[in-house]
Amino acid sequence: MQIFENLERARKWSEEEKLILDQFRRVADTVIAPNAARADAEGRLPPENMKALNDLGANMLFIPDAFGGSLVRYRVYLEVVKILAEACASTAIVWSTTFNGLKSLIDQGTDEQRKRLLPRIAEGGLGALGITEPNAGSDATGMKTTFTPDGDDIIVDGGKMFITNGDIADLILLFGRWSEIDDRKGAISTLIFEKGTPGFEVVRLEKKMGHCASSTATIAFNKCRVPRANLLGKPGEGLRILFSSLNKSRPSIAAHALGIATAAFKDMVSYMNERTQSGRKISEFQGNQFMLADTATDLAMAERWLDYVADLVEANEVEYGHEASMAKMRASDLAMRISTDAVQMHGGYGYMRDFRVERLMRDAKVTQIWEGTNQVHRQLIGRSFVKR
Ligand SMILES: Cc1cc2nc3c(=O)[nH]c(=O)nc-3n(C[C@H](O)[C@H](O)[C@H](O)COP(=O)(O)OP(=O)(O)OC[C@H]3O[C@@H](n4cnc5c(N)ncnc54)[C@H](O)[C@@H]3O)c2cc1C
Repeated sequence: MQIFENLERARKWSEEEKLILDQFRRVADTVIAPNAARADAEGRLPPENMKALNDLGANMLFIPDAFGGSLVRYRVYLEVVKILAEACASTAIVWSTTFNGLKSLIDQGTDEQRKRLLPRIAEGGLGALGITEPNAGSDATGMKTTFTPDGDDIIVDGGKMFITNGDIADLILLFGRWSEIDDRKGAISTLIFEKGTPGFEVVRLEKKMGHCASSTATIAFNKCRVPRANLLGKPGEGLRILFSSLNKSRPSIAAHALGIATAAFKDMVSYMNERTQSGRKISEFQGNQFMLADTATDLAMAERWLDYVADLVEANEVEYGHEASMAKMRASDLAMRISTDAVQMHGGYGYMRDFRVERLMRDAKVTQIWEGTNQVHRQLIGRSFVKR
């Protein structure tokens, strides 16, 4: 696929970055992709997947050197997400959720917090992001979990649902309302919740349409005592922390969606060049070629846009929320569209579990829902054009 090879060459990775990416490609090809169908069917991640990633020091890629990591450029992290999602979306989301959850600690924690909490993540620990509650989805300000100060501790009471890695995370970046602040938005605060804290309970694990090998948990906090030293920022700074953290996780979700889209595109092109009907390859029918042309063009544009968002992050820009929303929205819509087209081009075979496109279509759906539904992203982007 010359177009995509040229695009890849234009990225101009350094020699060291090429080596890193090649290592992840090798693990993706030899360990993760071969396990993907079984992981999906059994609904659990084979332990060798995370072991292979930890053997490469995967978490170190997003943790600064001073706290046990070996930080790379943000675009290298995004590329690894894409490589892993192409091989197995569940494995990719288990890994990238650690970044998505903990980047606020990485970027905004105090040195004391980062020295104390990050080395265990650099060594392969898992992170989670605890925002959603039964009545607080797209509008997170409806959350009811409370943080009540009590001497040197904070008492956490409440629960979260749909939490990726919620049952297995070593650290959860948790959002709740500060009991002493009486303001719907202004009360939201953030703390780091550590595994093993008494009163923590896994209430339920979801059975899902896709990403079946990654866990999605309902979790409860029954008067859990968390040291006040784990409060991120000041009481009431939660929304600011939330928005700044989403700006970095949305490109990550976009990369994840592009990994799924790329897998679907490759399978589709390959099948269309094998399958013959009416004496011709199905890739030779002009209607199908038009679809391929549109799909390849949109995929290449979405890749390039994500590179642009990575430029903004690496330049330490602060106002790139709309650009991040555009990347997430377009990449996830594309993953859904390409995986649906890929099933269609496989005909009846595409509907069967024997073909990877069946799983890719199921995995693609949630990328339009999580990290802000695409309706919410359209609203955010559209609103930016309204003259005040
Ligand atoms: C597999 C999975 C994993 C997840 N992992 C996590 C996680 O790790 N941590 C976490 O905190 N959350 C997680 N979530 C939650 C996810 O972020 C929410 O599901 C999502 O934000 C939507 O919230 P909701 O499900 O309550 O839907 P709702 O907000 O109730 O939305 C229902 C519908 O209404 C639409 N809608 C809502 N508001 C608007 C609006 N203003 N304008 C137009 N339409 C609107 C939505 O687009 C949607 O179509 C996960 C969800 C899933 C499915």
